[in-house]
Amino acid sequence: MSQNLSNRIATLAESATLAMAAKAREYKQKGIEIISLSLGEPDFKTPKHIQEGAKHAIDEGKYFSYPPVNGYLDLRQAICNKLERDNHLKYSPENIVVSNGAKQSIANVFFSLLNPGDEVIVYTPYWVSYTAMIHLAEGKPVFIKGSLENDFKATADQLKDAITGKTRAIIFSSPCNPTGAVFTREDFEAMASVLKAYPEIFVIADEIYEYINYTDEHVSFASVDGMMDRTITVNGFAKGFAMTGWRVGYIAAPSWIAKGCNKMQGQITSANCSISQRAAYTALTEDLGPTYKMKEAYLKRRAMVYELLSDIPGLKVNMPKGAFYFFPDVSAYFGKSDGNNTIDNASELCLYLLDHARVSLVTGEAFGDPNCLRLSYAASEEDLREALSRIKEVLSKLN
Ligand code: GLU
Repeated sequence: MSQNLSNRIATLAESATLAMAAKAREYKQKGIEIISLSLGEPDFKTPKHIQEGAKHAIDEGKYFSYPPVNGYLDLRQAICNKLERDNHLKYSPENIVVSNGAKQSIANVFFSLLNPGDEVIVYTPYWVSYTAMIHLAEGKPVFIKGSLENDFKATADQLKDAITGKTRAIIFSSPCNPTGAVFTREDFEAMASVLKAYPEIFVIADEIYEYINYTDEHVSFASVDGMMDRTITVNGFAKGFAMTGWRVGYIAAPSWIAKGCNKMQGQITSANCSISQRAAYTALTEDLGPTYKMKEAYLKRRAMVYELLSDIPGLKVNMPKGAFYFFPDVSAYFGKSDGNNTIDNASELCLYLLDHARVSLVTGEAFGDPNCLRLSYAASEEDLREALSRIKEVLSKLN
């Protein structure tokens, strides 16, 4: 029997973040101790009261059947209340679609908006799965790249230059995975002033790291004057509430786009898990204290990791303004050797550090910047210290 996968899947890149996490797990199973800084996943447990919310929902016995495709009405209303409270955005439940993680939300949007050959401008460095999803939806990613010197933020001029007659959408994350960059209101206003001349272009604003933002203000692109009707705000519960495994994300979008996503989701997954939705409802309607405490912990670790990374010769590092990643430029090590192995690029350095320092990171190539590596500091201070000391030691042997 032929074992040919469809071209669509055969040519699909594997998620580099998940692949690196699987590799680290494999090493661990073999008894090799690895410090895993590859997967962007809070090391905290889901706050107790959210766990209780889910348990209560099970005990009530009311949530064992299919939920509405776009999510329970009270959850969608709670999301609207949150958007008004935190983001100054007025939506009604018909604008909201709850999905299996922000990842599915983004996929729904691409599949709902893109026709073959449509271009999506991708702010680069970008999160790995954007490009894979655009390809799956038969669109074409067009990259505009920020550099370490400008905090990895592509400019409004770059946006303007990248627009063609085929541009259908733009996508970015702020706070950004993998760089930690945060767009300010001024940055967004400059983008908006370019977009005003192109009313047919949509904006996909990925705000999954909203609650891990160290600047004074988290700005939602949809709140910029004139942008709400063309913006799809993506958010979820994984990062801010330490709920990665519960898989709850959502969009807030013009209702016709929400309807498209609803239709797509109705054919593919029916809906998001009922009990996870009850947990998400608890997360939004009860105490946000644990969320702020986690942010404080990340902030402390950011300072520590910045200091330790800055102490490693050759690395160029910027200070991330949000999320829980560093994205150091490691290109000073390209061409160097330990006598047996020569490091030619970031992917090789990443594997070399896994083998020699027993620390897993993700190559910047997966995020569109082949000079960098991504390090997640959603790990204990002890592990972070140990990992960085091992990285420093291993890099010092490359000449
Ligand atoms: N978003 C996280 C990351 O970038 C989780 C893994 C994934 O879905 O890619 O590491």
